[in-house]
Amino acid sequence: MMTKPYISVVIPVYNEQENLRQLFERLTSTMDAFGRPWEVLFTNDGSRDNSMELLKSFHKQRPKQVRVIDFSGNFGQHMAIIAAFEHVRGEVIVTLDADLQNPPEEIPKLLAAIEAGHDSVGGYRRNRQDTFFRKYASKIINGIRAKVTRIRMKDQGCMLRAYRKHIVDNIVASGETSTFIPALAYSYSANPGDVEVEHAARAAGESKYRLYDLIRLNFDLMTGFSMVPLQAFTLFGMIVSVFSFLFVVFLFIRRIVVGPEAEGLFTLFAILYFFVGIGIMGLGIIGEYVGRIYKEVRRRPRFIIRNIYEETND
Ligand code: UDP
Ligand code: MG
Repeated sequence: MMTKPYISVVIPVYNEQENLRQLFERLTSTMDAFGRPWEVLFTNDGSRDNSMELLKSFHKQRPKQVRVIDFSGNFGQHMAIIAAFEHVRGEVIVTLDADLQNPPEEIPKLLAAIEAGHDSVGGYRRNRQDTFFRKYASKIINGIRAKVTRIRMKDQGCMLRAYRKHIVDNIVASGETSTFIPALAYSYSANPGDVEVEHAARAAGESKYRLYDLIRLNFDLMTGFSMVPLQAFTLFGMIVSVFSFLFVVFLFIRRIVVGPEAEGLFTLFAILYFFVGIGIMGLGIIGEYVGRIYKEVRRRPRFIIRNIYEETND
């Protein structure tokens, strides 16, 4: 009989060969010292480097504690986490990044907050070690998210988080393909909390997110948790209609009183282009929602698991 783990640590891995050894070492020593039964689930998200071999060697080293889910391709960080969520056995689930930006030594802090009664705990990064651009963009997005959605968390981008099992079960059951896990967890949580955690620069390798991925991810957050972008457009359209109507009335009266006019042609163009631009943006926003709806209704598998390396005789 295997002892049931109390803590399940979930780590998505995409081309992290330079970081995995140190990560595993620091994780095991932290968790062993913590003294409760634990397990770790790595999801290999289609790495093209040596990551999978390393993960398999960890599984060999501690077959009872280390499980590895091997994706058949790259399905993204959030899907990698959800796949692991489907298989966790612990009562408390902790997520963290594989690049050592989230120090494993901080896990006990999150667990303490869970034991104090929170059912979902987010880390917020002290001295965030990212590029100036990332930090700044993230501030803006955090600000927009706070205004546009009902989610109140300190640092949505920090993936060092802990959840009670029922939250994770609900995330799995929701079955969405383009979702943002911290926000989803928040919306299922009865008593969310935040704790301050350290943040390090990426130990090796480079960020797997290019600008385009970041934009897409943040659209997932906005469209997945708010209708405000659409509603703002309806409202804006209504305001423009009212003003246009007043303008038409004005022109009509002017025509009768002053006579026809032909000046200000280019001003008119400028105004027109402005509204055309806004209109195209509106189409884009609708497209973002429609595309996501399409993705959901097709009900294609969210990810494909090639193999799971685990001890099954429990
Ligand atoms: N990751 C993943 N699949 C991807 C991109 C990233 O599993 O398609 C993992 C990556 O290995 C790391 C975590 O997600 O463990 C965060 O990625 P990264 O550090 O590149 O993101 P950043 O810290 O720049 O936001
Ligand atoms: Mg990182």
